[in-house]
Amino acid sequence: MKDKKIVVIGGGAAGFFSAITCAETFPDAEVHIFEKSANFLNKVRISGGGRCNVTNGLEDPQLIASHFPRGEKELIGPFTKFGTKETMEWFTNRGVPLKIEDDNRVFPQADKSKKIIDALVKAATNAGVFMTLKTVIDQIIPPSEDTNGKWKLVSADKREFTCDRVIVTAGGAPQIWNSLSKIGVEIEKPVPSLFTFLVEERVADGLAGISFNDVEVQVVGHKRLKNTGDILFTHWGLSGPVILKLSSVAARQFSRMGYEFKLHIDWFPEITEEKLRRELERFRRLYRRKMMDTEPLFNIPKKMWARLVEKAEIPTRLRWAYSKTEHSEALIKTLKNTIIEITGKSPNKDEFVTCGGVSLSEVDFKTMQSTRYPGLFFAGEVLDIDGLTGGFNFQAAWTTGYIAGKSVLSAPAYVKEAE
Ligand SMILES: Cc1cc2nc3c(=O)[nH]c(=O)nc-3n(C[C@H](O)[C@H](O)[C@H](O)COP(=O)(O)OP(=O)(O)OC[C@H]3O[C@@H](n4cnc5c(N)ncnc54)[C@H](O)[C@@H]3O)c2cc1C
Repeated sequence: MKDKKIVVIGGGAAGFFSAITCAETFPDAEVHIFEKSANFLNKVRISGGGRCNVTNGLEDPQLIASHFPRGEKELIGPFTKFGTKETMEWFTNRGVPLKIEDDNRVFPQADKSKKIIDALVKAATNAGVFMTLKTVIDQIIPPSEDTNGKWKLVSADKREFTCDRVIVTAGGAPQIWNSLSKIGVEIEKPVPSLFTFLVEERVADGLAGISFNDVEVQVVGHKRLKNTGDILFTHWGLSGPVILKLSSVAARQFSRMGYEFKLHIDWFPEITEEKLRRELERFRRLYRRKMMDTEPLFNIPKKMWARLVEKAEIPTRLRWAYSKTEHSEALIKTLKNTIIEITGKSPNKDEFVTCGGVSLSEVDFKTMQSTRYPGLFFAGEVLDIDGLTGGFNFQAAWTTGYIAGKSVLSAPAYVKEAE
């Protein structure tokens, strides 16, 4: 007879990690995962382009935490307990050898997210976790006399479950936030993070797939909303590390702006206008008979160069020999200060993570227990935590899932420390 029953709401990365840790730590407990969809670990499956960027090669807890626009301070302690090194050991010991790529992203050596899914499902099965699909938890009712001191969960199709502890790992799911909000848990307004910028102007037309290194982007009129890094043109507009990071750091500001703003791009932040002027002069002498729009400066890809020349309003098919100072100046202005109208973000639900969720003041990060309700725990993206790309978001799910699973039956009721 199992003596305590624990229900984990949500069968994603954080749900599996907390359920496995809990079942392995407390073998006498009965651990259940309830998952709303028809498959477990859906996001793991599609993550990292099907390869699953499972964590990051950085090891210093403070450094890892610095990749979280929301949750940085709170995650330092948890990363000290279960960090990237422990994640890599966990998967390696369970038959998934990993590799660290040049940019520190960590993937299964087989480059298949299925390896991660199989390892998690196998570990959960071996630990005796009960796994139930197609069960949408709609109501979370705290213990009371009416419930015989147990937590009560009600599914969307009105099935009722009771248990001793609840771990909420439902990811960025509005339904769960509503249920939690009904029992007084504070929720930070969810807005998308890590999204791409929509561009309707011709400047990005036909450039999908082209990337360009080390550009500087800045939201016009917002000096602090700026970033430097590699940019990628997509079918929608602009992406790449420089855009994704900016979208994450300024997720709330962009939401307030309705995702409509002007973006300044300096394509050569390291090169002065004077140097560009000299380079253009050199081109004028060197390529006299060639067309301006077909002979790119520096290493600019040809198609992209043609768009920039067009944006600078240089007449088509103009030979370098016939170019005038006004053409050079227009090009310099474009190369140092292209202004692009952003008209939205990547289509809804295409963003990678959600900013917002269970307010961090609601959680004791030593145990992941609610500061409001003993016996209620949180892990993963359901919290107001989100990181940059690079495996950080999964690491937050593994870490908080691990701590919740370890503490779920041993954590004392949270007592607020004296200020
Ligand atoms: C396309 C894409 C690619 C990504 N790639 C990476 C990557 O390579 N590396 C990385 O670190 N991060 C990546 N991420 C982010 C990463 O997937 C998430 O941060 C991570 O999945 C969060 O884990 P979680 O368990 O908290 O939430 P989720 O993975 O979202 O799991 C929550 C689960 O709860 C279920 N659920 C929701 N509501 C209920 C309910 N009411 N009742 C029962 N079940 C419910 C959901 O169906 C879901 O299965 C990617 C995200 C996307 C969208």
